[in-house]
Amino acid sequence: MAFPYRNFGRIMIICSFRMVLKVTDLLDFPGEDLEGIYSAREFVWWYNGHPDCFNMAPGLKNTDTAAILGLGNVALDVARILLRPVSDLAETDISDLALASLQESSIRKVYLVARRGPAQAACTAKELREIIGMKNLKVKIEEADLDISPSDEEALKNHRIQRRVYELLSKAAGSPYCQSSPEQRELHFVFFRKPDRFLPSENGCTVGSLRLEKTTLEENKSSGKQSAVGTAEFEDINCGLVLKSIGYKSLPIFGLPFDYNKGVVPNVKGRVVSGFQTEEEAVEHGLYVAGWLKRGPTGIIATNLYCAEETVSSITEDVERGLVPAASAAIKPGREGLLQLLQGKNIKFVPFTGWEKIDAKEKMLGELKKKPREKITSWQKLLEASNE
Ligand code: NAP
Repeated sequence: MAFPYRNFGRIMIICSFRMVLKVTDLLDFPGEDLEGIYSAREFVWWYNGHPDCFNMAPGLKNTDTAAILGLGNVALDVARILLRPVSDLAETDISDLALASLQESSIRKVYLVARRGPAQAACTAKELREIIGMKNLKVKIEEADLDISPSDEEALKNHRIQRRVYELLSKAAGSPYCQSSPEQRELHFVFFRKPDRFLPSENGCTVGSLRLEKTTLEENKSSGKQSAVGTAEFEDINCGLVLKSIGYKSLPIFGLPFDYNKGVVPNVKGRVVSGFQTEEEAVEHGLYVAGWLKRGPTGIIATNLYCAEETVSSITEDVERGLVPAASAAIKPGREGLLQLLQGKNIKFVPFTGWEKIDAKEKMLGELKKKPREKITSWQKLLEASNE
């Protein structure tokens, strides 16, 4: 099969960027349209001043309890924002609007809900350490949830990050917490529970509680991973704010091969393969992939560096073997060609010099407030700043 991206006569790298990422926000559970239930991604955009979400106005004054579904790094990020003292946040580049809203927040307790156990937590150690080390924070973890099976033990032996995460959680569970102060916040790790439905509060419009089903782990024969299976035992958590933080999934790009099970463009070390043939035949010469579209939505920034290095090594090798033309062999229109293409498609863009102007203006606005930067939160104002 010939793909439209094939035989470009040069090298093409497909990276994971927003256009090809679907956020798996929708759980499709009863009550999901109640007020007070948000996607964690939008919440992150809100406090970061993203123009599409800066006026989201999550109701932080109406409840003292929030539940976050999922236990990846995004879940930890949003928990940290909800629990961190506002005086600390004021020194960061958080948007002014979010800061004002957090100043009035009545949230004191956050539940982090994971459908599997502490040995399968999706977060990484550095991010976990940052939150559980916060001052005036009481961390609660059921001791019984820390019991691990022989297969967990084996998995932890082989995965350094998961082992560190498990150790940190075990340590946090055993740490005594004495005094109670008005600034005290609570962080509850709830393991082996999967969301079942959202229940309304007395007013019928806003979320009042979250129904969870207890789970147990079963080995998934095809993936070899431990999957959470419901036990038909339920319990409710009272909460007036729910943030869904259940990860991402890549979307296929028209004309490119796609592995729907794994949500990746099939590849060997970054070389896109079309499948069906032997590995050598299947390689789409000159077509490469990097990032989440190559390996799935996992890892921290450093993971992406190694991932990109691997793809670049494949490109270098292929150029040396004469499988794709070297950069010097092709006559390329370069930056001018790109600008013509964008103009031809009527795509609005900000050149690097425009970005530098935005950056300088945000930093200047931040200096006035003793912050690293003050984000500009409207597309119009960003465009104006890029032209000043
Ligand atoms: P993630 O790491 O994939 O975590 C998703 C979480 O949601 C997991 O706990 C997963 O549980 C759970 N989940 C998925 N589907 C669910 C469902 N239907 N019901 C209940 N729970 C469900 O996603 P993420 O936190 O959005 O992060 C995405 C990537 O960005 C990660 O690689 C992360 O490390 C990275 N990131 C890094 C940083 C940083 O470096 N500081 C910050 C933010 C994000 P299971 O494990 O059981 O599937």
